[in-house]
Amino acid sequence: EGKKSLNFIEQIIEEDLSKDYKQEELKFRFPPEPNGYLHIGHASSICLNFGLGERYDAPVNLRFDDTNPMKEEQEYVDAIKKDVEWLGFKWAKECYASDYFQQLYDWAVEMIKNSDAYVDSQTSEEIAEQKGTPTEPGKESPYRNRSVGENLALFEQMKNGETPERGHVLRAKIDMASPNMLMRDPVMYRCLHKSHHRTGNDWMIYPMYDWAHGQSDFIEGVSHSFCTLEFLPHRELYNWFVEKVSKPGDFKPKQREFARRNLSHTVVSKRKLLQLVEKGIVDSWDDPRMPTISGLRRRGYTPASIRKFADSIGVGKRENLIDVAHLEFCAREDLNKVAPRVMAVLDPVKLVITNYPEGEEEWLEAENNPEDESAGSRKIPFSREIYIEKEDFKEEANRKFFRLTLGKEVRLKNAYIIKGESVVKDDNGNITEIHCTYDPKSKSGSGTEESLRKVKGTLHWVSIKHALEAEIRLYDRLFTEEVPDGIKDKDYLDFINPDSLQITTGYLEPGLKNAEIGENVQFQRIGYFCVDKDSTTAKPVFNRTVSLRDSWAK
Ligand code: ATP
Ligand code: MG
Ligand code: MG
Repeated sequence: EGKKSLNFIEQIIEEDLSKDYKQEELKFRFPPEPNGYLHIGHASSICLNFGLGERYDAPVNLRFDDTNPMKEEQEYVDAIKKDVEWLGFKWAKECYASDYFQQLYDWAVEMIKNSDAYVDSQTSEEIAEQKGTPTEPGKESPYRNRSVGENLALFEQMKNGETPERGHVLRAKIDMASPNMLMRDPVMYRCLHKSHHRTGNDWMIYPMYDWAHGQSDFIEGVSHSFCTLEFLPHRELYNWFVEKVSKPGDFKPKQREFARRNLSHTVVSKRKLLQLVEKGIVDSWDDPRMPTISGLRRRGYTPASIRKFADSIGVGKRENLIDVAHLEFCAREDLNKVAPRVMAVLDPVKLVITNYPEGEEEWLEAENNPEDESAGSRKIPFSREIYIEKEDFKEEANRKFFRLTLGKEVRLKNAYIIKGESVVKDDNGNITEIHCTYDPKSKSGSGTEESLRKVKGTLHWVSIKHALEAEIRLYDRLFTEEVPDGIKDKDYLDFINPDSLQITTGYLEPGLKNAEIGENVQFQRIGYFCVDKDSTTAKPVFNRTVSLRDSWAK
């Protein structure tokens, strides 16, 4: 494989290595907030950070940014771990911002002692009013010059839950005239009398993101802290806090930013995805229509296809929208290599081979995957009555129709050449049976002259008496708009695709009764499918991962 040119993140690291960083100092982290399930946007960040870990042989921590007990849950922690592992990555350490609550508190006390922080007793509205505008300086809080002693006493009360929620906040004392609004005495702690999924009721104050994130990086010895672009203006504050808590000569983390990746025809925001679950628009976080990693997994995406997707879109400096068709392309590419071929008929019509002996059957050899010799072959049953797809037959057709018509020949995949002879119709004129004859000498793979005869079309089919009936879930895009959350004066929930799920009955070759949950297959000529977790022996359920071709392409 040819050398890939360095992306701008790798260039930053290479430059640091060429200056004052040692290779063994490199350390990265992936820092999700456990307030929802990971989505395809997170997959980009996971592949970026863990990819750097692989490239530079450096540790990568999985850090839960669990500073907001109102939205965070153990269920999400467990789901996130499962997803990262499933993608094929191993973290060096499992860390939690909440593990650092005591250290953060101790540092905050130090900052109060050094007059770098103060307790503000104003309401959040008053504080917001005094912030000023980017062009006008803000106003200093009347509490800004409280004595160290008073600040320490109040902060302790906050910690012990003796202050009502919204009673006081702790603010960093920086500069109310800074051109960077985030430097205008940002809030470090708020009172929240909420139980935390890990620390229980130990804490009645919780640190803000800016106060916790850089310090967590510092504590863990992270060298490069990559986050999305909206944190660019936070970088100055990130550095200011790290400066305050470190000593000269300490190894300090460095925040750098990359662009978010958005996917068309969906939303990539945990908050918005939670709405879909709570409103019952989807069944769960792992509903196969969800752009969550767990939804994609259940839909039949492989880890390789998602990693390939993330790698192929790479990292960028500007936000952009990736067409979901590209994600589907990555799924097809991988599934084409790994998914065994099988036959399934989803919209059946009965076909009778009139010259095939009644009551007889034979088991024919079928190749499992032409892309993979080691995949071997299997036996499939053939008999006088089979199903084919309705759309594969027309009584009369023009010369461009290469499927079955009366008087013409087609091949049945892995079986024989048949010829359309007549049809049986009901009172409404609908075809109920197609009658054909077959050429017994034309068996696939038999090497006879007849078997080598060229016919234009090949159809898939399933023997009726052997068919395995299964529920087939045909998924489509969840939203009708390319950017459902980007339309002025509209809500993304206004653009739900009413046809995002169609359920039908399919007739499958019988060997599929042994397929296991999560197993990927290609229904020949139709698409890639996988066994859903709802599947049972009594009632198999298959999800369509993607069709064979992009049906949305113009
Ligand atoms: P959400 O709004 O969905 O909750 P978030 O950024 O708040 O997204 P975090 O749990 O904080 O979610 O994200 C963990 C990491 O994943 C962060 O470094 C974040 O920047 C990154 N990330 C989140 N969404 C995307 C995205 N769409 N593209 C690339 N990286 C992302
Ligand atoms: Mg976040
Ligand atoms: Mg978020």
